[in-house]
Amino acid sequence: MSPTEDTAPPVPELFAGVVGQPAAVRALRAAARRPVHAYLFLGPPGSGGRPAARGFAAALLCPFGGCGRCDTCRRALAGTHPDFVLLERTGASVGIDEARRLVTLAQRKPFEADRQILVVADVHLALRSAPALLKTVEEPPASTVFILLADDLPPELVTVASRCVEVAFPPLSNEVVRDWLVGQGTDELRAALVAEGAAGNLDRARLLAADDRYLDRLELWRSLPATLDGTGAVAGQLAKTLFDSIDAALAPLRAEHKAELAAVAEEAERMGEKGLPGKKAITDRHSREERRFRTDELIAGLAVLARAYRDRLVGAATAAPAAHRGIGTVPGRRDAEAVDRITKTAASLQRNPVELLALEGLLVRLGDDGE
Ligand SMILES: [Zn+2]
Repeated sequence: MSPTEDTAPPVPELFAGVVGQPAAVRALRAAARRPVHAYLFLGPPGSGGRPAARGFAAALLCPFGGCGRCDTCRRALAGTHPDFVLLERTGASVGIDEARRLVTLAQRKPFEADRQILVVADVHLALRSAPALLKTVEEPPASTVFILLADDLPPELVTVASRCVEVAFPPLSNEVVRDWLVGQGTDELRAALVAEGAAGNLDRARLLAADDRYLDRLELWRSLPATLDGTGAVAGQLAKTLFDSIDAALAPLRAEHKAELAAVAEEAERMGEKGLPGKKAITDRHSREERRFRTDELIAGLAVLARAYRDRLVGAATAAPAAHRGIGTVPGRRDAEAVDRITKTAASLQRNPVELLALEGLLVRLGDDGE
């Protein structure tokens, strides 16, 4: 029996991976009909810029205007179409090497489609190569469309941005992330906890939702005020346990990375290429994503810990008998100091790498303060 219209699989939505950004998706659908040569997708990690770039590329490369069904759409959405190039940085910033590569790529003729889509990631880190970027974006060959992805817009990039059509991807609210998780089959309570830990980053929410140990990890952080006894031995053991739990939490991300490399390898083989072009940029990004996940996980854990102390503080303030007031110690003062100390450590993590010793030191001091 041959498949009929009724039994045919549903058409994949080009922007299905973009969640909670109706204005951006509307703008891109309209833009796909008469594209200009450069776009700036502006929004924090996990707010939808990357999946939107793939969906938009599919709309621009597909011979049927973005049907969602054809081989071109499929490969553009998977990020493996030869006329869809994602330029990733290999160092801490988008450097001169990347800028040079962009200039060369921009002059290239498309392989299969009428145009090629060049996506540049982390443009907010392209401060030194901003002039080269500007020159390329200002004088693009007719067959090249640029998509610049940036978390934010530093002053150095305002001129580059002025040459692009800006599409905003504002941070996602916890409610949007929670509702999306529920729609994916996560139960409501878990979805709410995951959304809170994901802080508006949908990529992170997906990883946490796939992690069986996530609720255990939350409980581990929450139980610290009661477990710490001020000794280095206990603090050291707990810090190690927390680090191990974060390491175990990396499993879903590592599985995603493995699958991505396999897909790229399969496509390279299909195209008859020797080796894996761009493998280093991909594995570099994977390492960055792992580091970022660890840091985010630690910051989220510290937020849970700070809340645990804050809850004790509120409990102490409401339960303190009147007789204890005015004798020199303010009830919960030590808990307030603990919250302050945790907040400072979390803020420093944004700049410094995660260190076991630093966490151990924090736990020792929290234990001292708690008793
Ligand atoms: Zn198509």
